[in-house]
Amino acid sequence: MSTLHKRELLDASAPNQSTSIINGKSSNVLNWDDVRFPWAYPKYKRMLGNFWTPFEINMSKDINQFESLSPKEQDTFLKTIGLLALLDSVQTDYAGKVADYLTDSSLNALMIILAQQEVIHNHSYSYVLSSIVPKQKQDEVFNYWKTEPILQKRNDFVVKGYQDFAETPTVENLLKSIIYDVILEGLFFYSGFAFFYNLARNQKMVATSTMINYINRDEQLHVGLFEKIFKEILTEYPDCNTEELMEFGQRTFMEAAGLEIEWAKEIIGDDIEGLLMNEVESYIKFMANKRSKQLGFQPPFDGHQHNPLKWIIAYQEVDLGKTDFFEQKSRQYTKTTDANGFDDL
Ligand code: ZN
Ligand code: ZN
Repeated sequence: MSTLHKRELLDASAPNQSTSIINGKSSNVLNWDDVRFPWAYPKYKRMLGNFWTPFEINMSKDINQFESLSPKEQDTFLKTIGLLALLDSVQTDYAGKVADYLTDSSLNALMIILAQQEVIHNHSYSYVLSSIVPKQKQDEVFNYWKTEPILQKRNDFVVKGYQDFAETPTVENLLKSIIYDVILEGLFFYSGFAFFYNLARNQKMVATSTMINYINRDEQLHVGLFEKIFKEILTEYPDCNTEELMEFGQRTFMEAAGLEIEWAKEIIGDDIEGLLMNEVESYIKFMANKRSKQLGFQPPFDGHQHNPLKWIIAYQEVDLGKTDFFEQKSRQYTKTTDANGFDDL
């Protein structure tokens, strides 16, 4: 097991451009024209281009509409928000821990921006909940991860992968934790995303779905960033590119998809108008195959090469400029009012 070393705060004897992605040397001075990876600066620009805050989104229609959702839709809505709140909280901290071990100051910068975006995601869940439910219910939702066994099982799976790296920072554990990261950011959010987009295409809770779409757009960039880091580490440390890692990756995506399907059966099942459970299951397997291939593993499920939820593409492929399904967001950073209760936070 090769130990990972933290980046030096400042090293006058080292170049600005690091000598290696991890365990290398770097002055730790950030000059975007003198960084190790040519893809880092374009990624930086795209991440900044995504900037948004929940304050931009007018929740007034959703506030009135929430009451008219079916009890099942309301329950799923809240449980999904509860799930996302926990994952994004953990993710903020994980990004900071990874940042410490990346030698190049530009990758550290990207991780810090990623972590900042996770903070905004968490803010958005508070923002939505404080708009539509009383404070007591909001507190309950933020505690679902402790009180809902099916959520616990699913979250423990990812958190355990992160903990192994946090407690024993080796190159192998970093690589494995990135697999869990891609599961968290690139798979575990997706049945929740499908639920919100399905509401939006039925003209329900459009403001919340707009926010979910912004989060989804950020997560796509995050998955892409971790994919790059994973591949660069394997290029620089080819000894780590083992059969064992490939099998571990494929197996872990398969287990994760199993947990996600179990979760989807609980929150979606056969009771959500417009979403068929067998299609959602197939969508989860498709996403697991896609993410597995992105990291260079064999896809865990035979078939499932195409997205069975065709309609969702319009909601997800935001780079194609197909966001007109969503309400136009107000570009003003309006002061929060008592109406959305956000000042009670
Ligand atoms: Zn996030
Ligand atoms: Zn993320």
